[in-house]
Amino acid sequence: MSRFLRVLRAGAGWAVFDEKGDRVTDVFHRFDAAKRQRARLEAGLRPAKSQIRPCMTCGDRFASEGVHNRMCGRCRALGGDMGATAGPAVRGRPVRRGLS
Ligand SMILES: [Zn+2]
Repeated sequence: MSRFLRVLRAGAGWAVFDEKGDRVTDVFHRFDAAKRQRARLEAGLRPAKSQIRPCMTCGDRFASEGVHNRMCGRCRALGGDMGATAGPAVRGRPVRRGLS
């Protein structure tokens, strides 16, 4: 059974509404996130709840849109590659010996 679900503006963000106009998910900042929730609902899955998580970069708590979303909006806006460079350091780089 499929439900009639729509992604509509909800305040400053986006949310999924059912055929009666009731909001059935949290409000997401990103349209894509709301669309993913609609897809989950249409597939008969429960919507993934957003959670308050600490930002992996600055430690601020923010409403995460899911496990993929571990950085607060401010850090993502500042360039989200800080997390990537915090990974294991490249070591054991081969040493090039003499060019002769
Ligand atoms: Zn942050």
